[in-house]
Amino acid sequence: LIVIRKEEDQFLELAQKVMSLPTAPFCEHLVAAFVHNFVAELPTLSLSEDSFGNLLLIHEGDETQPRQGGHLIATAHMDHPGLVFEERLSGQDFLFSKKGGIPLHHAVNAAVCIFDIRQPASQSPIRGHITARLDGPDVAFNVRVDSGIAEAEVAESIRPGSFAMWDLVAFEQQNRRIIGRACDDLAGLTCGLYYLLTLSRCKSPKRAGLLLTRAEEIGFGGMAAAIAAQTLDKDDVYVNIECSNAESAAALLGGGPVVRVGDRLSTFDPQITAGLNFLGAELGEDFRFQRKLMDGGACEASLLMQNGFRTGAVALPLDNYHNNGKEGVQAEQIHLDDALGLVELLVTLATSPDGVNEVFTTASANLRAGFEQGQQQHAARLRETRQLSQYQ
Ligand SMILES: [Zn+2]
Repeated sequence: LIVIRKEEDQFLELAQKVMSLPTAPFCEHLVAAFVHNFVAELPTLSLSEDSFGNLLLIHEGDETQPRQGGHLIATAHMDHPGLVFEERLSGQDFLFSKKGGIPLHHAVNAAVCIFDIRQPASQSPIRGHITARLDGPDVAFNVRVDSGIAEAEVAESIRPGSFAMWDLVAFEQQNRRIIGRACDDLAGLTCGLYYLLTLSRCKSPKRAGLLLTRAEEIGFGGMAAAIAAQTLDKDDVYVNIECSNAESAAALLGGGPVVRVGDRLSTFDPQITAGLNFLGAELGEDFRFQRKLMDGGACEASLLMQNGFRTGAVALPLDNYHNNGKEGVQAEQIHLDDALGLVELLVTLATSPDGVNEVFTTASANLRAGFEQGQQQHAARLRETRQLSQYQ
């Protein structure tokens, strides 16, 4: 499986395509369209869409019997915090609402790119900038379109279904860093797709999946709807893929993927966490990974856990979380090696010969065996040395 680290050109090619897709909460249509095409090209994959627009991708494998203990379903989200069209105020001025966490203090005067879900992903955005912030129960912004664009074109292009992203580079590689306006979670989504691509190419006999949700950034909208509609299988094991604030969690970009033990809200299934840790160690000394509580944000794993799903998480340490740069709005950054390692970890879990559940029980048994060995060695000495004290 070290193979994945040698496939970085292919991974980067996919990352460039995925991270260039425009997206915002409730406006994930261009990402979803890409995913539909991606699945259509891989014969082992199937795709089902629920009534909320969440996508479930399954690599079927060739197991004839349903496996006890379930299969791995990785999860990632298709949106990124942004601004969504509300109404036209005058010729060049529009009202957009805030959707998700954005750098509020740097928003006024910041440049934005306005996209339309009805146009292809390769569309040229209409450029503008934020002229005012309107505080209230729902934060909104006035956006003015740059001069020089014909009013008729503006009126025709900016309408319900339009959304704005910061005017930042969509994808760029600088040495081992990947820089982009929406790493969270399009880089995570890239890892999810590459993990399925790997399973498909190596014709893994194991069934495994990827759940892609909508409107995560406004409070887990898509995942909450899927859980309420009871479309998810409780026998399966869920592993959430996120980009998560590196600085607040003392995680290192380039230190390897994070086995995420929890988030700002809760901690995740200890058996799954121990299993991911165990697999990371099994991959050998060359495989770097970090075990961290990424509490700079909350993720869908907390929601899944609270609803009784067996859930673990992995994360890519993220710089400039939610475009909060040191000096204003900036592109986010992740590390290529962390992403490749994350894919490797997921593929290793999904292809483990005796199934995902076996990994978790083996990891727990390993931990217990280690403790028991120590206890046997020390119990006799503790008993003996206790008698030595003259002050009893
Ligand atoms: Zn996210």
